[in-house]
Amino acid sequence: MSNVRNQEAGTAGSIFVLRLFGVPVRFHFTFVLLVVFLGALGLEGPSGAEAAIYVLALFASVLLHELGHALVSRRYGIGTVEIVMFPIGGVARLERTPKPREEIWIALAGPAVNVAIAGALIGAAAGLAGSFAWDKLFSRQAGDLPGQIAAGNLVLALFNLLPAFPMDGGRVLRAMLALKRGEAAATEMASRAGRYLAIAMGLYGLISANFMLVFVAFFVYLGAVQENAAVLGRFLTQGVPVRKAMVTDFRTLTHGQTIRDAANLLLATSQQDFPVVHGDQVMGLLGRSALLRAMAREGPDAYVSGVMERNFIRLGPAMDLSEAMPLMSQAGSCALVMEQDKLLGLLTAENLAEFLLLRRLGLGQKL
Ligand SMILES: [Zn+2]
Repeated sequence: MSNVRNQEAGTAGSIFVLRLFGVPVRFHFTFVLLVVFLGALGLEGPSGAEAAIYVLALFASVLLHELGHALVSRRYGIGTVEIVMFPIGGVARLERTPKPREEIWIALAGPAVNVAIAGALIGAAAGLAGSFAWDKLFSRQAGDLPGQIAAGNLVLALFNLLPAFPMDGGRVLRAMLALKRGEAAATEMASRAGRYLAIAMGLYGLISANFMLVFVAFFVYLGAVQENAAVLGRFLTQGVPVRKAMVTDFRTLTHGQTIRDAANLLLATSQQDFPVVHGDQVMGLLGRSALLRAMAREGPDAYVSGVMERNFIRLGPAMDLSEAMPLMSQAGSCALVMEQDKLLGLLTAENLAEFLLLRRLGLGQKL
């Protein structure tokens, strides 16, 4: 999808940091908090510097885990929009939903990377020392950084293989269930497994006073709920053309009109985004925030053509709504529905939410 504006914005609350193998990598602010928290906490025995290296190494391991997902999806011809790093791991946001059979291999690729890292470290340590002390692997000995990092990677792999959303094991479970029961039922079951696991984990964390575990459980619960909502949204929109959900009763501005005219229209209607036209040609899109900014900076007499967005999101009327959804994920976004150069309607985040609600309430058949 050639929608640059949407991709540059990325997931809310995340910071763009780097690009690996052509995949943008962002860090969610909660992940940054976790790294700070771990850094401050340190490890029991080792010095602060060693603790910092340990945290950084695990941080890199999680990133490599996500790259594992991204590179295997690429083999199936699925690009990765972005990798976002969260405290309980990362999320590789794929361009499209993989088919169940593809999803199994994509999901397994992440934990496989962690097992490979642990294997390489253990192999190297064994090669250097002539043997490897397996019994000391999880004892977190001071001075044994490679052993600690190997153990950390094995924990990451095992944790991610838990058969519950939003872990990779949950994806494998969902994909295997989906082959027999269909996508929606499979997702609901994997999500329920995730919520139960999170509750059990949280309770255990509280009883054993392991607050780190409570913290992780909280994110597992959130992830399970979110994943379910995302799949439900996809389920409600799959096979529905954009035409069915778009706003068809709307007002436009002509490129010769001023910010004052636009402000009057903003007040007189409930519309927030206005297509700017010149005859039958669509020249751009003027959204509410751009309008307000222009009013403050350039005054009411400026022309709308000077401040409108020329790179607006453009959708075809026959496009599947489930494909349009990721483009509309940005809050307050508005897309123009166009057939060749003819403007047919608007699709806004607001009316899309309305449409989903109506579909969910069972009015779908009548729409
Ligand atoms: Zn993963």
